[in-house]
Amino acid sequence: MALQTQAQAVVIGGGLVGCSILYHLAKMGWTDVVLLERDELTSGSTWHAAAGIHGLHDNNNISRLQYYTMQLYADLEKETGQGCGIFQPGSLYLAQTADREHQLRIQAAKARYFQVEFHELSVKEAQDLHPLVDFDGIRCIMFEPDGGNVDPSGVTHAYATGARKLGAKIHRFTPVTGTTQRPDGSWDVETPEGNIHAGVVVNAAGLWGREVAALAGLELPLIPMEHQYFVTEEIPEIAALGRRLPSVADRDGEYYLRQEGLGLLVGAYEKDGRFWAENGTPLDFGHELFPDDLERISDNVMRACARIPALESAGIKRVINGPMIWSPDSSALFGPVPELKNYFCCNGIIPGFSQSGGLGMLLAQWIVEGEPELDLFPWDMARYGDWASKSFTKARALDCYSNRFKIHFPYEEREAGRPARTRPAYERQKEMGAVFGLNYGWEHPLYYATDDAAREESYGFERQNSFAPIGEECRALRENVGILDVSNFAKYEIVGKGAGAWLDRIVANRVPAEIGRSCLTPLIGLRGGIAGDFTITKLDDEQFLMVGSGMAERYHRRFFDMVDKPDGVTMRSLTNEKAGFNVAGPKARDLLQRLINEDLSNEAFRFMRSRRMSVGGIDAVGIRVSFSGDLGWELYVDQSQQLSLFDMLLAEGKDLGARPVGSRSLLSLRIEKGYGSWGREYSPEYWPQEVGLDRLIKLDKRDFIGRDAYLAIKDNAPREKLVHFEVEATTADAVGGEPIFLPNGGAPVGRVSSGAYGHYVGKSLAMGFVKTEHAIPGAEFEVAVLGKPHKARLLEQPAFDPEGVRLRG
Ligand SMILES: Cc1cc2nc3c(=O)[nH]c(=O)nc-3n(C[C@H](O)[C@H](O)[C@H](O)COP(=O)(O)OP(=O)(O)OC[C@H]3O[C@@H](n4cnc5c(N)ncnc54)[C@H](O)[C@@H]3O)c2cc1C
Repeated sequence: MALQTQAQAVVIGGGLVGCSILYHLAKMGWTDVVLLERDELTSGSTWHAAAGIHGLHDNNNISRLQYYTMQLYADLEKETGQGCGIFQPGSLYLAQTADREHQLRIQAAKARYFQVEFHELSVKEAQDLHPLVDFDGIRCIMFEPDGGNVDPSGVTHAYATGARKLGAKIHRFTPVTGTTQRPDGSWDVETPEGNIHAGVVVNAAGLWGREVAALAGLELPLIPMEHQYFVTEEIPEIAALGRRLPSVADRDGEYYLRQEGLGLLVGAYEKDGRFWAENGTPLDFGHELFPDDLERISDNVMRACARIPALESAGIKRVINGPMIWSPDSSALFGPVPELKNYFCCNGIIPGFSQSGGLGMLLAQWIVEGEPELDLFPWDMARYGDWASKSFTKARALDCYSNRFKIHFPYEEREAGRPARTRPAYERQKEMGAVFGLNYGWEHPLYYATDDAAREESYGFERQNSFAPIGEECRALRENVGILDVSNFAKYEIVGKGAGAWLDRIVANRVPAEIGRSCLTPLIGLRGGIAGDFTITKLDDEQFLMVGSGMAERYHRRFFDMVDKPDGVTMRSLTNEKAGFNVAGPKARDLLQRLINEDLSNEAFRFMRSRRMSVGGIDAVGIRVSFSGDLGWELYVDQSQQLSLFDMLLAEGKDLGARPVGSRSLLSLRIEKGYGSWGREYSPEYWPQEVGLDRLIKLDKRDFIGRDAYLAIKDNAPREKLVHFEVEATTADAVGGEPIFLPNGGAPVGRVSSGAYGHYVGKSLAMGFVKTEHAIPGAEFEVAVLGKPHKARLLEQPAFDPEGVRLRG
C-alpha cells in the first residue's frame, strides 16, 4: 500500500498505545488518519509484557479510565473478531500491615462509590478461590472480580483491526525519520517511503519516545529500565484444578503473580533497578530481550515462594527481561505539547494494558474536541518543565521503579532527585526547621519542625508528626502574623499597548481598568469548565501582573497561546526571577507598617488593591490578598532580595509573634476559609456555577476563551455543588478523593476534594462535591475517611470568617 501524502493525523508508533489512539480517533470520526510503525506492530515494550489488568487506582479519574479499558477489551473482541486473550478470574489483594489494610479499605470504599466490585473476603473464601496461597499473616483480603490479564498481541491487533475497519491506515516497516512543522502549524512527517502532510502528529513511540520527540526539537523526561518476570513449568496442583486461578497482588511482598498456562507467572520490581539505553534507545533494537538475571529479583521471589509454596518446586520455563520506559513519577506524559502546535504526546506508559483504552479515548477527545472530558493533570506532560533534568528523571524513575508497590501515603514527598531548584531563602528556611516539598521543581517549605522529631516527616493514613507544628503555625497566623513563602506561585508580566484588551480576551472577569486594582478571575476551558484561576493586577498603563497556580504554568500556556497578541504586547513568566511572601494575620498590618512608609490602613489600602512600594528599602509590588483568608498582603520582589526580605520580616515582627508558615498550614487555613484551589476544587471538569465562580464571569465582554462553551452550559442546573463539611474524625482527616455517602451505608452522593484539620477552628474539615439535591446545609453524610464511615455535616458557610471581616478589615 503506497503511502498517502495527506492525513488529518499521523500516529507514530504501533504499540498498544498508538493503536488505541488510532482506533479512538477513527471512532470519533477522524478516519483519514495514519499510523506509522518502524517494524511490526507490538515491536517495543508491548510484545513481551505480562499484560495484567486492574481497575482501581489512587486517583479517581485514572480508576475511571482503567475500568473503561477493562470493559473495552471484551467489546473490541466482538467488534473486530480479533481475540484479545482476556482472562478475568479476578485478583486477590492481600494486606500484611495496618497501613496496607487502610489502603485496601479506602479502595473498597471508592469501589462502592464507583459501583464496581472490590470487596473483602474471609480467609476461607479466599482459600476456596486460590488454594495454593498460604494466607498466614494476612490481615485483610480484598477481591476484584474483574482483575486478570490479556494477550498483548491480541489486544494491539484488535485496536488495529478496529481502526482499519473504520478507515484508518496502518503502515508497518515505515519508520518516521523527521517531523517538520510548517508555518501554518501543520506537520510534514518524513519516512523513507515519502512524506505525509498531517494536521496533527502524535508521538506514541514508546521505548523510542525520546528519539521521536527529538525529531521535533523536544526533550522528554523519560528513561528506559529493565524489568523481569518468569513463567514456570506446569504445576500439578494447577493442572488438577481445572479452572483459572485469580491473580495475587501481595504488594507487601513486592511481586506480582498470576496463572500462565498451567504454571505461574511471577514478576518483580526489585530494589536494585537497572537502567538501559540512558542516552538513547538504539534505533535497531528489535524483538530482543536482555540476559536473565533472576538473582536480582531473588528476594522478591523468595517472598512469593513463602506465600505460594508450590512455586518453590516449580521449574522455570522462560524468563522475560525486557525494557520499559519511565517518566519521573511513572505516570504518562500525555497531551498536547504546549510549545508545539498540533503535536501530542502519549509516552512513558507503565500499566499500558490497564490504561490503553482510556489513554486512547482521552487523547482522541483532546485532538478532535480540543479538550478531554476528564481532568487529567496527573498525566499531563505539562506537569514537567525543563527543570526535570536527566539526572532528576533518572533518580525519580529509579525511586518509582524500586518502590512500585510501596504504599503512597497522602502528602508523601519523595526525596529522590532533589533539590532540583531552590531560591535564596532555602538555606535559611532549612536552618529554621523547614521540611520541604517539591512544587513544579521548586523546594518549598511545607511546615517548620518545632522539634527534632518532626524534622523528618513521618507518613501514614492517620495524623502524623507534622500535625502539631502545622497546628502551631496556623494558630500563630490567625492570632498574630505568619510569613508564607508564595514564590512558587506562577507570575506573569503582560506589557504593551493593548495588554489589558488582550488579557480580557483570555480570562472571564473584567481586567482592572484602574491602576492599583486587582481582580480574581477564572479562565474558562473549552468545555465551559474552570481551566484556571488568577489574580490580575494593573500595575501601570498597559502593564499587568498576573498570579496563578505554579504547577500549572506550562498547562496554562496552552490557553495563553490561543489568542494572538497585538503587536507590541508581550507576556513573560516572572516565576523564576521574582519571589514572594504572603504576610498574613491580624498583626500583618502592624508588621508591614513598620517597614512601609505608605499608609496601610483599611481606608488607604483596601482589599484587592495594589501598589509598588519599598519594603524596608526593597522594591516590591504589594497586593492586598491572602489565600489564608486573613488580613494580608502578598509582596513580590526580585529573587535576589528574597532572603533579605524574609530576614527583615521575621526580625521586625519578632515582638508581634511573627513566624514562618508553610504550605501545609496554608492548606488547613484555606479550607477553614472555604477557598478552592486549582486542581482540587477548580478543574475543567467543573462548571463555574458548581463551584461558585459564575459571579466572576462577565458575559458582556464579547470575546474570551471558553465564552461560547460557557454559554452552552450556563443555564444548566449544577450537577453537583462544591460544599464544606465538618467531619467527625479523631485520628485521621479527609485528604481528598474520599467518597461521600448518605447516612447508614446509603448511596454514594459525592467525593471530597480537599480535607484537613482546621487547627484554628478546632474541627476536622473537608471540601467536596455532592449531587445538587443533597447540598442542604445541616444535612448529614458519611465520609469514608480511612475507608470507614465518618459522620459529616454540611456547613452552611465556611468555618472561618464567612463574612470576610478579617480579610477586609
Ligand atoms: C517485562 C514487562 C512486563 C510488563 N508487564 C505489564 C503488565 O503486566 N501490565 C501492563 O499493563 N503493562 C505491562 N508492561 C508495560 C507495557 O508493556 C507498556 O505499558 C506498553 O507496552 C507500552 O506501549 P506503547 O505503545 O506505549 O509502547 P511500545 O510498545 O514501546 O510501542 C512503541 C512502538 O513505536 C514504534 N516506533 C518507535 N519509533 C518509531 C519511529 N520513529 N517510527 C515509527 N514507529 C516507531 C516501535 O517500533 C514500537 O512498536 C510490561 C513491560 C515489560 C517490559
